[in-house]
Amino acid sequence: MILKNMFLTRVVFMLLFLLPNLAVAANQLDSVRIWAAPESTRVVFDLTQVPKYDSFTLTGPHRLVVDIQDTGAKVNLDKIANNSKFIKKIRFSSPPKKGILRLVMDLTKPVKSSLFTLPPTAPYGNRLVVDLEDTDGRSSAEPTVRRSANQSSRDIVVAIDAGHGGEDPGSIGPSGMHEKRVVLEIAKRLARKVDSTPGMRAVMTRSGDYFVNLNKRSELARNSKADLLISIHADAFTSPQPNGASVWVLSMRRANSEIGRWLEQKEKHSELLGGAGEIIQNTDNEQYLAMTLLDMSMNSSMAISHSIAGDILRDLDSITHLHKRKPESASFAVLKSPDIPSILVETGFISNPGEERLLSNGNHQEKLANAIYKGVLRYFQSNPPADTLLAKSSSTKHSVKRGESLSIIAQRYSVSVNSLKRVNNLKSDVVRIGQTLVIPGA
Ligand SMILES: [Zn+2]
Repeated sequence: MILKNMFLTRVVFMLLFLLPNLAVAANQLDSVRIWAAPESTRVVFDLTQVPKYDSFTLTGPHRLVVDIQDTGAKVNLDKIANNSKFIKKIRFSSPPKKGILRLVMDLTKPVKSSLFTLPPTAPYGNRLVVDLEDTDGRSSAEPTVRRSANQSSRDIVVAIDAGHGGEDPGSIGPSGMHEKRVVLEIAKRLARKVDSTPGMRAVMTRSGDYFVNLNKRSELARNSKADLLISIHADAFTSPQPNGASVWVLSMRRANSEIGRWLEQKEKHSELLGGAGEIIQNTDNEQYLAMTLLDMSMNSSMAISHSIAGDILRDLDSITHLHKRKPESASFAVLKSPDIPSILVETGFISNPGEERLLSNGNHQEKLANAIYKGVLRYFQSNPPADTLLAKSSSTKHSVKRGESLSIIAQRYSVSVNSLKRVNNLKSDVVRIGQTLVIPGA
């Protein structure tokens, strides 16, 4: 005990002695990066140490001033690539006090700003991050559901999520390829295929090199009323050997904990369940009902996820090595929408030198996108949601012959009389010879 105390006293004494020396060490601004997203902009200051900072805004013209204490700079601010719609220019300005580095952002309009620091992670060191957003919160582009000409059938919406982006490179291959670049290429190719399919439409959670946080990604999918969310990634391991693709779905445990969290936020229910949420909010004895409804929607979306994941794996099998032959389940943060069928595709190991080369290759990216697309298409062709254009176009037609009644036709196609009536808008069971009936899919 005595020994320990003596040791502590010594440490404290040494620290007190050393602290003033530490404080002298000046910080250094090494570089500045601007990541422009459609609705927001992230500015990153690379520094040699953790910065102490302050910020304030000025109007007429609109400016954001950032003061970093005890810092010098060796950056040419005129050479920074800037495609932000918020920032005219970033420049140095005379500091209020010696030792402070004052940076001024000349803005095009008033913005909401938030500043925070990020610790070093490869390939970056200490950073000061400035996020800029429109002051009116969510601005344009509230996605609308596109209806087809006859207004009665909608497109199947596939939300495509390219992992990482901007300040977050994802995994980095041995020759320096960033996961965020590879997966965006594959995601764009997949989106083009989906968009050129009648009855299907793609929504991308990001379309450029910028970061979108995970909550925002599933929010985008939910706002676009997505039928499916596909998140695209590339794997990495500490050793170069592992290779191949895998497909992941939400784990049951994660899904259950998400449901628990949602139940605590009643205002979220209507968002999740559409009409059913209204009922939940207006019922006293709502906990049980909410649980049952969420459970139903989760079970169905997990079954769909598993089925699509299996389809995609079959198609990936013919063009690349598979790391796992069956859909795996995990609690990836982006797969946390139990109400939307969600899958995550690891397209290969970027940490494997051979596969890093493949993943960077346009031909291979196209093959991967095509395999994912075929899996998705096959699933929705055989299981189109009832109100979609695909459901209409994929159904069989039947011309009524002499002697056939509705129940005979229903029996022949193994469908119910009621579904036949619903799909064909029949008020009674009477059909006439020569009448064309749409036979609903399985
Ligand atoms: Zn990733």
